[in-house]
Amino acid sequence: MYLPGFLSLAAVASILSTASACDSCNGNLHRREAEGGGEGGEPGFSYLGLTGPVNWNQFSQACGSGKTQSPINVVSTMQTSSYGDNGEYADIGATGFNFTNTGHTVEVFYRGQSALLGGVEYELQRFHFHTPSEHRLDNEWFPMEVHFVHQGKNDPSKLAVVGIFIDTRDDNVSDPMMSRLATLLQSIEKPGETVIATHVPLQGVRTAITSAKKFTYPGSLTTPPCSEGVTWYVSNTILGVSVSDYKAFKSVLGYNSRNLQADPGKQNVVEFAAQFLPAVQNRVQAKKERRARATKWTA
Ligand SMILES: [Zn+2]
Repeated sequence: MYLPGFLSLAAVASILSTASACDSCNGNLHRREAEGGGEGGEPGFSYLGLTGPVNWNQFSQACGSGKTQSPINVVSTMQTSSYGDNGEYADIGATGFNFTNTGHTVEVFYRGQSALLGGVEYELQRFHFHTPSEHRLDNEWFPMEVHFVHQGKNDPSKLAVVGIFIDTRDDNVSDPMMSRLATLLQSIEKPGETVIATHVPLQGVRTAITSAKKFTYPGSLTTPPCSEGVTWYVSNTILGVSVSDYKAFKSVLGYNSRNLQADPGKQNVVEFAAQFLPAVQNRVQAKKERRARATKWTA
């Protein structure tokens, strides 16, 4: 299943061409700049306080009023896709690809690999990580989630993202992709830093895309501009990570996960909450007036 693309070509080009872009991270401000008000330049989103997820409406209206926003709680009764799906990406070899700290995530710019999802041909653009997971599976969250971002081969307005959960394991063994990338993180601890990722095995990812059941739904980018028209595939095959590799990712990523959104078609959670604000303000005002009257009588 896929949605007709209704992102404009220009919007998609802008999303995909930004140096620090990912499905969920297309700002180019460093995390610390965004959180702290920055070193000049335009304001940026973050995962904290006044520039955090509940206030992303200030960057794009879709974040606060869109009705097919991501991430969501994926439930095992949802529609699934697997028949004919194919994500047989080659292992990354000796030449390598940029692995960059964008300030919102760490991202490998691995382009050009083909994928077939829901009967549509796509090309992989990049993949990046979130701590903790953005989606939930039957309301369970995971320590990490990786997003493989694809653009339509024949129709560039189509976007598809495969989300794969990552969990710690009792035997404390990492998926080979995770252990390889963890060794490179010390070179990209600061926003803006890049290292060339070579020799990255992707067999776990191939299984999680080609052979696994995937829950699919119509969603959005998970950061501003929160554009909708993104077809999501959330795999039920979970990659493993050792505790030390998980900590290495967590220390660089910090917290970069958007709060859960309403199920597709339901009212936006921010818009829903905002409708009660006038009533709250009225109650606060009435309380202030009561206090003022009481003070007047006792003075
Ligand atoms: Zn993402």
